[in-house]
Amino acid sequence: MSGPAAIVWFRTDLRLADNPALQAALQAGGRVIPVFVWAPRDEGSWSPGAASRWWLHHSLDALSRQLAARGSRLLLRQGPAAEALARLARETGAAWVCANARCEPAARQQQQAVERALQAVDAGLSLHGGGFLLSPRRLLTASGTAYRRFTPFWRALQAHLQHDGLCAAPERLPPVPRTVAGDSLGALGLLPQHDWGDGFERYWRPGESGAGRRLAETVRSTLPRYATARDRPDQDATSRLSPHLHFGEISARRVLAALDAAAAQAPALDSQVAALRRELGWREFSAHLLWHYPTLPQEPLDGRFAAFPWQDDPEHLRAWQRGRTGIPLVDAGMRELWHTGFMHNRVRMITASFLTKHLRQPWQAGARWFWDTLLDADLASNSQNWQWVAGCGADAAPYFRVFNPVVQGRKFDPEGDYVRRWVPELARLPKRHVHAPWQAPESERQAAGVRLGETYPWPIVDLAAGRQAALSAYAQVRAAASRQQTPD
Ligand code: FAD
Repeated sequence: MSGPAAIVWFRTDLRLADNPALQAALQAGGRVIPVFVWAPRDEGSWSPGAASRWWLHHSLDALSRQLAARGSRLLLRQGPAAEALARLARETGAAWVCANARCEPAARQQQQAVERALQAVDAGLSLHGGGFLLSPRRLLTASGTAYRRFTPFWRALQAHLQHDGLCAAPERLPPVPRTVAGDSLGALGLLPQHDWGDGFERYWRPGESGAGRRLAETVRSTLPRYATARDRPDQDATSRLSPHLHFGEISARRVLAALDAAAAQAPALDSQVAALRRELGWREFSAHLLWHYPTLPQEPLDGRFAAFPWQDDPEHLRAWQRGRTGIPLVDAGMRELWHTGFMHNRVRMITASFLTKHLRQPWQAGARWFWDTLLDADLASNSQNWQWVAGCGADAAPYFRVFNPVVQGRKFDPEGDYVRRWVPELARLPKRHVHAPWQAPESERQAAGVRLGETYPWPIVDLAAGRQAALSAYAQVRAAASRQQTPD
């Protein structure tokens, strides 16, 4: 090994294939020191939530094994990242720390702090773009501003999409000197204290090989009906790649390459591939917005919503979190989330709409709960989508468009299978009543063993009244905004 040692600082890129930071470290030609720094304080108020920590634990375990199988070793250190990396550079004589850039505001500050700390030990930070199809800051409108609407963003992004030169995982890696030590995975304390999370293992395989298998399965069985079935929570019809993508166990470029290869082989798949590509576009758009609007996680992009009369009702919030609102589709989604760390996209939209519109709870409270319970919790996608549903984001759904969870249920879960799976106390109701048990005749409820207020709650809000109250609140906000614009 001729060149100086290089540190690969793994962050949300827990993979060996198509990892530009790892490639750069290998090209330096010397020793390669892989490290992950657990630094929740660096992330400020958005340190990984409980579900994310579960995933991280297993993903680090998988990465460690992969590195070991190639003759290397993953060092685990504890933060702040700037101190930990400067110390490691001093210990190993590394001239460079190679890392893939992140878009979250705290992670960007962390990068700057690392850069300063490395300068003090005569080392440098070499940043690469492994997380997205295109660096979130690169695309700008003709007038040099950030895009605020998805469609023109997506149109512009497509001109830049390519996946040439995808790198396979290296077969061998240089050994890490024995004298360099790290913490054990257990010492990071990432797993939940109580038994919540045990169920996740039934549904998920964190790690790069799990991600590869998910992608292969997506191409084989999900893609052929993706565009038509993706809105159906009762079917297994989406890729479920989101936690793998969030933790960078697979690159978005590799997903795109697999989709394009499938379309090239079977042109009939074109429209399915286009639909899934577009969803990857939303992931890019979310990162783009967070990069350009770092307050996205807490402040509405549409400034008028700063004055929205939210209700702040802890009981309503708790009923929503626990899946005890009395609205079957909402409760099914919230329970799916609790048990599996995941919720189907359409149901995310419906549960978020119910919280922010029918219950008028602040979208930030919902986003915070998702942050803690979603395995794919991602600051850019979560914030962007919550704002979109609440009606205050860039290119948002208009506030007055309020999802009716009963109508949505009948359309997208027509047999009621999804509700029956997650709300078993309603399992025996016939499909015409399963989405609105309060409308069922008492005799049918009795026959199905449903006693409202005992075995299952009455709705905590009347849907029509909740919708009307939301629209009135919105009308107030609009009136206040137009008064401000009108000079006296
Ligand atoms: P697929 O339909 O197979 O899509 C493929 C990939 O495209 C996904 O894995 C994801 O990376 C991306 N994608 C799909 N839809 C979106 C979208 N609307 N916005 C951004 N990227 C998208 N996604 C997250 O990854 N993390 C979050 O924290 C998150 N929070 C959300 C909160 C709300 C209120 C809503 C409405 C959506 C949220 N989403 C979030 C977006 C979306 O629900 C998930 O990405 C999707 O359900 C993941 O399932 P999948 O991998 O099977 O998706």
